Amino acid sequence: MARTALVTGGNRGIGQQVAHVLATDGWDVLIGARDKQKGAAAATRLRKDTGGRVRAIELDVTSDESVATAARVLRDGAIKIDALVNNAGVYGVARGPDGVKRTIETNFFGPLRVTLGLLPLLRDGATITNVTSGLGALENLDAAHARLLADPQLEREALVAEMRAFADGSGKGWGTDAYGVSKAALNALTRVFARELAPRGIRVNATCPGWVRTDMGGRGAPRSVEQGAASVLFGVTATATGGVFRDGRPIAP
Ligand code: NAP
Repeated sequence: MARTALVTGGNRGIGQQVAHVLATDGWDVLIGARDKQKGAAAATRLRKDTGGRVRAIELDVTSDESVATAARVLRDGAIKIDALVNNAGVYGVARGPDGVKRTIETNFFGPLRVTLGLLPLLRDGATITNVTSGLGALENLDAAHARLLADPQLEREALVAEMRAFADGSGKGWGTDAYGVSKAALNALTRVFARELAPRGIRVNATCPGWVRTDMGGRGAPRSVEQGAASVLFGVTATATGGVFRDGRPIAP
């Protein structure tokens, strides 16, 4: 039986390439896209390029309603997910409180919302891959917040409260910008979910693609989209849980 993967932000960039590789390898692939037309166009492209089974699903990771609707559509189609790749992300959105909010909403609350919303559809033994960034390394944060996120006892509720306060506030005081904070918090969330979901055999890891030539990374980035996607894909079949990886090797969170 073919395995099923869902990749958020799968309509371009690293997400699209992750979907390409999985479809080529025989997975049933669902690409989440916030724009229905862009999703449908990407799915058509991927089917043509890979000869595989790729479908689009409308999914805006910043919207509870969108995630709930997607979950309902999947449930009605009796679809079970073997691999969830939380790839959708934003970088360098407009400065100021709105930019901070959007960055945290997309990069931190997005994976949280999608994971919780789709959890009933995930098979026991599934994997969750959160796409992170080296910019989220704890060494970029001020000491107090680095300690907070590194605390092995950190609970999900406390982490969520910290991120809510950061997003609602000025987005200052953590020693780095909202993007770095969003990914540092995503690494911590990865560890928390790994612990919470261990009883179901679900492995949760964060994988960093490196600096990649996409719309986000820009043309001057040193790594190809294929290299970035390969680094992310490690999480899909990883046997470890709760770690942060680049190119299949653990990196400091
Ligand atoms: P990208 O080319 O800008 O693509 C981003 C993708 O995320 C697009 O499909 C975009 O959809 C989607 N997205 C954004 N907001 C969304 C939302 N609210 N709901 C659903 N989808 C949304 O970026 P990329 O370089 O492929 O980056 C993918 C991931 O890798 C991100 O998490 C990023 O932080 C991480 N990363 C990238 C680099 C790099 O150098 N490129 C480095 C480290 C980490 P639309 O087309 O609708 O905008």
